[in-house]
Amino acid sequence: MYPDDRAPHAVVPEELEASLVVPQRIAADWAARTGRDFDDVVSSIRSGKPASFDLSADGHVRAGFELETFESTNVAALLPGSDPALQDEVLVLTAHLDHLGIGAAIAGDSVYNGTLDNASGSSALLTLASVLTRMDAPRRSILFLWVTAEESGLLGAEYFARFPTVSPRRIVANQNIDGVMGMITAATDVLAFGYEHSNLSQAVDYAVSLTGTPVSPDPTPEENLFIRSDQYAFVRNGIPAIWVQGGRTGLDPARDPQAELDKWIVERYHKPSDDFVQPLDLEGVRRELRANLLVTYHITNEMGPIEWDPDSFLYRRWVGG
Ligand SMILES: [Zn+2]
Repeated sequence: MYPDDRAPHAVVPEELEASLVVPQRIAADWAARTGRDFDDVVSSIRSGKPASFDLSADGHVRAGFELETFESTNVAALLPGSDPALQDEVLVLTAHLDHLGIGAAIAGDSVYNGTLDNASGSSALLTLASVLTRMDAPRRSILFLWVTAEESGLLGAEYFARFPTVSPRRIVANQNIDGVMGMITAATDVLAFGYEHSNLSQAVDYAVSLTGTPVSPDPTPEENLFIRSDQYAFVRNGIPAIWVQGGRTGLDPARDPQAELDKWIVERYHKPSDDFVQPLDLEGVRRELRANLLVTYHITNEMGPIEWDPDSFLYRRWVGG
């Protein structure tokens, strides 16, 4: 996933943005100057009630941007739908195929393998394609799309969303896979980012009804994960999206998936150690693939019109209403 907590509105230079990250002690000092206790501010954010306030401080930020032109390729494959009334509608199934390449060496290793992030999602998409092309053709069409340059700011997905290879009016939904979390720890629940924003939630409910794995609320809302991977490029272009991931309740009750994920982030996220030597929980991968396959199946075969929730703030922000 994209490392910053704000996906930049990249692609064209005039949309370059700068953000500022300060050490906690400075943030605490700024909060104190406004008469607030930093720990109170943090716990209010953690409780899901972030409230912005004036820092009463002036400052200057100088940022240097280096613009670089490069070519990198998205890979797309279309599975045409079989229902004359629905085949014009396309579900775009995405996973990003890029990672960080060669970088600064850590413990003598400079190859950033990106096994979880996002070879796991890319190969999950390949597996879904292999299964779905062997089943009866779906009623709606499916475009399997491996997007590039996610790590550079969702560039491949943004490019596709703006200049798709099918008529833009045909694209009715996006389902994204970024990091098969079950690879770290098999879970008995799933997370569904975007669940509250459109009726794609019905597809998640369908998967849950068959697998008995409940949908858990987002355990880390402050991470803003829904706007940090490729689905957000589709959302910004008006297309409802869903991202289904293994949850945080361990299949093995002795294991704590959130704690293991937190440890993984410290030890392996965007590091050479996100490699093939790390432990792989294949039961977790199987469960996450099954949930995603059922979601795809329901979207393409059983759902009525796919619609935003008109009360969604993302709908109001990007589509209007
Ligand atoms: Zn990443």
